[in-house]
Amino acid sequence: MSNASIRVRLTIWYGSALVLIMILFTSALYLVMSRALQDQIDRSLEEAAKAAARSLEEHRFGPFLLLDDLAQAFPELALLDKFFQIFGPGGQVTLQSANILTQEIPLSQTALKAALVGQATFESVRFQEEIPIRLLSYPIRHGENLVNILRVGTSLRSVEEMLHRLIFVLLVASPLAVAASMLGVWFLAGRALRPVDAITLTAQRIAAGDLTQRIQTRSKDEIGRLASTFNDMIARLEASFRQIRQFSADASHELRTPLTIIKGETELALRKPRSPEMYREALESNLEEIDRMNRIVEELLFLSRADLGEIKVASDPVQLDSLIQEVQQQAIVLGQDRQVETTLGRVEPAQVLGDEWRLREMLLNLVDNAVKYSRHTGTVQLSLVRDGNMACLSVRDHGIGISPEEQGHIFDRFYRTDAARAHFQKGTGLGLSICKWIAEAHHGRIQVESILGQGSCFTILLPLLTSPAT
Ligand code: ADP
Repeated sequence: MSNASIRVRLTIWYGSALVLIMILFTSALYLVMSRALQDQIDRSLEEAAKAAARSLEEHRFGPFLLLDDLAQAFPELALLDKFFQIFGPGGQVTLQSANILTQEIPLSQTALKAALVGQATFESVRFQEEIPIRLLSYPIRHGENLVNILRVGTSLRSVEEMLHRLIFVLLVASPLAVAASMLGVWFLAGRALRPVDAITLTAQRIAAGDLTQRIQTRSKDEIGRLASTFNDMIARLEASFRQIRQFSADASHELRTPLTIIKGETELALRKPRSPEMYREALESNLEEIDRMNRIVEELLFLSRADLGEIKVASDPVQLDSLIQEVQQQAIVLGQDRQVETTLGRVEPAQVLGDEWRLREMLLNLVDNAVKYSRHTGTVQLSLVRDGNMACLSVRDHGIGISPEEQGHIFDRFYRTDAARAHFQKGTGLGLSICKWIAEAHHGRIQVESILGQGSCFTILLPLLTSPAT
């Protein structure tokens, strides 16, 4: 059963429940019907018996010696499908109606005993073993004495026939109703589950490697919601697979460039004997490329460990105003070669909870970029202000800038703008990804404002440890 399809199971469950309900319903219907019919017959027998008893009293208790007297006494009974008998107090028949004249239906001991104590008795018997009849034995008393026992009877054949017909109809109709309902459920379940087959088919295609597959759905029901959740999940998977592919391609490309340079320079140096200075130059250039490769590998390692949640970030109070002043001192050295001056703008006292070492690394990365992408003799300005419950650290330069379209990508791994590649070849494209990770690990965020050709301002927002009022 557990291997059967939901459609089969639903149909079987529904069918079994329906069969059970039908059995209960038809049994109850049969019982209620037969009870009601019997009650009706008993009531009419009782009415007839009472009417007869009244007539007997009017005749001062008989005796009825002639059938004509009887017919006259009970004209209403003669019209009905009833027969009646009058027994003496000893139980012997003294008179009976014409429709039973030739037959004998003796008084039962139970009815006689009950009559002696003044009680009426209902009995069901089979006349001549086949005709079902219902009998009412009704005592007729004069004072304390039992004068007669009046028995009124009627055939139950029509009732029995009616009940047989009912059973027949129920026995034929119920299985037909169950079969028709099960067919309906089979059809409806098939319709309701059709989207599930579509999901399975799509999932199979996706499993076979085609991540572009989506489930076509417009309905908003449970299955529709499942399908759109499934589609969202596949879209995210597709995006991350694409990212991974792009990432591997970018990583190998970025590592291959310095390797090609090292190989080329080494081959060139070895092609013919050279002066010690030329070897030295070649080795120095190779060392530079090795350094760059080293940086890429280290940064990649950092990011992959960050992805795995292996990087621990301390949570100590950090005085950002002191930190920014120290970074400015280091930036003076960074900008010396290109004569880029780094100054301090407005610096407000601000304290955050975090990892001083990582925050310094993030800030230095931004200052390094600002110096790198500044023009010769440009300026970089660092500032720190409080805005509400956030500390805003800004690094502003007047360098090459970033176009609005590219601003959305610069935090992606290995992404470098064309202007940056033309301006400075040896970047890794990983620094800003690391900055973003550090800012977010401190429950903050990083944002950029920039105009191409005019300069950029990177701002890090971090939650303050103390509110500005304190
Ligand atoms: P890179 O090693 O290339 O600087 P980053 O991840 O630090 O890598 O920066 C990614 C890209 O963002 C850079 O290649 C450059 O295109 C752009 N960028 C970052 N900082 C600046 C800046 N101050 N001015 C202009 N472009 C910048």
